[in-house]
Amino acid sequence: MNVPAMRVADFDAAERARILAKVARFAPPPAELPDGRRDLIGLSRDELAAAMVAIGEAPFRAKQLWHWIYHQGVTDFARMPSIARPLQEKLAARFVVGRPATVVAQTSEDRTRKFLFRFRDGQEAETVYIPDRVEDRGAVCISSQVGCTLACRFCHTGTQPLARNLGAAEIVGQFMAARDAFGEWPSPRGEAPRLLSNIVLMGMGEPLYNFENVARAMTIAMDNEGIALSRRRITLSTSGVVPMMDRAGAELGVNLAVSLHAVTDALRDELVPLNRKYPLAELIAACRRYPGASNARRITFEYVMLKGVNDSVAEARALVRLIAGIPAKVNLIPFNPWPGSRFETSSPAAVARFAEVVNAAGFSAPVRAPRGRDILAACGQLRTASRRAHGEAA
Ligand code: SF4
Repeated sequence: MNVPAMRVADFDAAERARILAKVARFAPPPAELPDGRRDLIGLSRDELAAAMVAIGEAPFRAKQLWHWIYHQGVTDFARMPSIARPLQEKLAARFVVGRPATVVAQTSEDRTRKFLFRFRDGQEAETVYIPDRVEDRGAVCISSQVGCTLACRFCHTGTQPLARNLGAAEIVGQFMAARDAFGEWPSPRGEAPRLLSNIVLMGMGEPLYNFENVARAMTIAMDNEGIALSRRRITLSTSGVVPMMDRAGAELGVNLAVSLHAVTDALRDELVPLNRKYPLAELIAACRRYPGASNARRITFEYVMLKGVNDSVAEARALVRLIAGIPAKVNLIPFNPWPGSRFETSSPAAVARFAEVVNAAGFSAPVRAPRGRDILAACGQLRTASRRAHGEAA
C-alpha cells in the first residue's frame, strides 16, 4: 500500500504523543531532598540561571556553577573558591549537587566494572564501565530506566518490569559517579585522553521510551564547558522505537545502534516483541533516513548470536540484503547466558561463518568479546531487584 507522506507524518506525531503520554506515567520523582533542597544536577543552563535569579542572584552565577559542577566535578559548595563564602552558604541551604549512591561496585577479572546505583526513592539501576583492552579509554554503559517494558526474549533486564523512568540527573549522574570512582576530574579538555571516553545508552531500559530525560542528560554531557563529551562518543541503542528515532537524530545527533537480532518479522516478533508494532521495513526505513549517518559515523546493528535460532549462513545473507546501502557495521554478540534463559550461545564456528558472509558484503562485523560475564555485567545480563511503583501493566 502506498501511504502518502503526510499520513506517515501524522501517524508518527500521534504515535509520538502516545509514547510521551505513557512516559509521563512512569515519570521519575522530583530531584529534591526531603528537606526541600533541590538537586542542581539535571538542570539545563537556562534553568540553572533561572534558579539563581529566583534566589536573588545574578544569572552569571550559573556559568560559575556549571564549571564547578560539570568541569571540576565538585559536589560541595564550600569547595567552589570563585564563589564568596556567604553565597556558598546560601546555595548550600537551598540546593545540593547530588550523585546516586553506590551500593555495590564489582570488578570483573577482565577489569570491567559494574556499579549498582541507588537513587533517592530507593530504586536501583546498574551501570557498567567497559575498559578498552589495549588503550587507556573505555565506555560507560548507562541505564535509562529501572526495568524495561520491552521483554526482549534473550535479555535478563527484560524480565524485570518497568518500575519507572530515570530522571536526567540520574542518567548523567551515573556517568558522573563512575567518573568519581576513577577520579577523572576535572573533565579532560578537547582531545586529551579520557579513561571514561564514551557513553553507550545500552544499559537497563529503552532510551527512546524516556527520550526527554535522556536528551536532557546527554545535552549536559556534551556541553563544551562541562563534561564536554563529543556527540561522536555517545551511542544511543534502541530496540526500534521508530517514531522517536528521527527526533533522536535531529535533536541529539548521537550515534545510533539498533538491536536487530533477526532478519524476518516472524522471528523478530518473537525475539524483540516491539517488532509487532514497528516491523522491520519501518525500522530499516528509519535507519536509512537517520541524520548524520555516514561512512565515518555508521549505524551499528546489534545481532545477538543464538544457537540454532538466528545464526545460519542463509540469515547472514538475508541480513546483508536487508541493510544494503546503509552506512553500517554489524556487532555480533555471542549470547550471554543468565539464570533461567532458554537460549544457548552460537558455536564459535557458526559465529565465524556468519561474520564471513557479512564481511564479504563489505560490512565490518566484529565479534564482540563478552565482557564482565563473571559479574553478570555483560550485554543483556543487567537486572536489579527493583520495586514497581505503579502496579500496572506496562
Ligand atoms: S534488550 Fe534492551 S529493550 Fe530489550 S528488554 Fe533488554 S533492556 Fe529492554
